Amino acid sequence: MSAGRKRVVVVGGSFGGVNAAYELRRRLPRDAEITVISRDAEFTFIPSLPWVTMGWRDPSRLQVRLDAPLQRRGIRFVHGEVQELDPQACEVRTSSQTYPYDALVIASGAELDYAAVPGLGPQVGHTFSTFTCAEAAASRDALARVLAADKGRIVIGAAAGASCVGPAYEIAMMIDTVLKRARKRHRFSITFVTPEPFLGHFGVGGIGTSPRMVQDEFAERHIDSVVNARIANAGPDRLILADASEHPFDFSLVIPAFLGSPFVRGVDGLANPKGFISVTPQLASAKFANIYAAGVAVAIAPPGPTPVPVAVPKTGHMTELMAQAAARNLAAEFTGGVKVDGMTLHSTCIADAGDTAFYMSADPFLPPRNKVIVKRGKWARYLKLTFERYYLARIRHDLPSMDFGW
Ligand SMILES: Cc1cc2nc3c(=O)[nH]c(=O)nc-3n(C[C@H](O)[C@H](O)[C@H](O)COP(=O)(O)OP(=O)(O)OC[C@H]3O[C@@H](n4cnc5c(N)ncnc54)[C@H](O)[C@@H]3O)c2cc1C
Repeated sequence: MSAGRKRVVVVGGSFGGVNAAYELRRRLPRDAEITVISRDAEFTFIPSLPWVTMGWRDPSRLQVRLDAPLQRRGIRFVHGEVQELDPQACEVRTSSQTYPYDALVIASGAELDYAAVPGLGPQVGHTFSTFTCAEAAASRDALARVLAADKGRIVIGAAAGASCVGPAYEIAMMIDTVLKRARKRHRFSITFVTPEPFLGHFGVGGIGTSPRMVQDEFAERHIDSVVNARIANAGPDRLILADASEHPFDFSLVIPAFLGSPFVRGVDGLANPKGFISVTPQLASAKFANIYAAGVAVAIAPPGPTPVPVAVPKTGHMTELMAQAAARNLAAEFTGGVKVDGMTLHSTCIADAGDTAFYMSADPFLPPRNKVIVKRGKWARYLKLTFERYYLARIRHDLPSMDFGW
């Protein structure tokens, strides 16, 4: 890349985009122009959205407006949607403007592929979801109506090809907790329908003892499960699987599969067929050296085949680490310095159950691993609650990362 005043554009204002922009600001000279373009005006702490579904959080408490914190650090913020990327001209375009770049970081996450299953999704279908504030609020209202009844059938699950199945586990267990507290669990059925080959697979072949632990937990909670499930159709009151079995419901929440962003899918050679960006270990595009990617937008191959496709999750923690590595490697292109491997990642995740929680840490994220920690306890709930507060403050004030390595 040539010398002179550099222009870096970051697409995305979530875990990937904001962390990349802050890290770039720390590493690039003051005169480098950093622009964040995001379709959303706010950062949302997405891991807490299942608590919105349960009615335990107001969405507004999970959001930070992006303009002021970024501008305070000399980062330009554009609230807009990138519709086109021209890697030859080195430009991204929104509906109203063109933004030239010397280097680009793509952290635009994914689109929710409800269309892959007829009847799926809250907009035109019959199932709810919890992937945006609006989805979580709609699911909260529908769930509250069903839980207020005397009896009911709850079906929670994930579509074939879904990657982020953790929130489905959380919601199934949290509903069980709420019903037990109301002393009417015995009048409700809860069924968990997943494409995973076994419970606790999570798209990564399991994390240590997670499969045994989840199986025991579901047995204790009387949550029925169907594994290797491919949802073929979501009707108004039932899920129909590819093997023709039917799962009637009064409330259903199903995690969809992801597709890469349309502007990424529009560039020949940038992404895999699903639209996720193929990267080098340094997180640069395998085809365009001045394009980097982080987070959900990155293609990660599953550790092995499964009868029904399950994609690898990219957690918030992994996304943050990828964003920092991508920014560091991009800055090294301009200013020199050592590049780092951004794809051999460790990750820590906490899944809440309402009355307890599960702490899971894996290094590296994909097996075989050097270190695994899987623990259950109320303390993990408090850790998750505290982490939400810290993270929102981190986005507001660019606080140091809590990833102290292993
Ligand atoms: C319900 C739920 C619970 C979760 N729980 C956990 C958890 O407990 N722990 C954990 O570690 N991870 C969890 N995750 C995963 C975590 O939320 C993701 O890893 C993280 O959000 C990924 O960040 P990202 O920046 O890659 O993408 P996203 O968060 O998807 O953000 C994409 C960003 O790009 C913007 N954007 C998209 N398209 C465009 C465009 N064309 N132009 C401009 N901007 C665009 C969006 O507005 C957004 O700002 C959870 C995810 C979900 C959905």
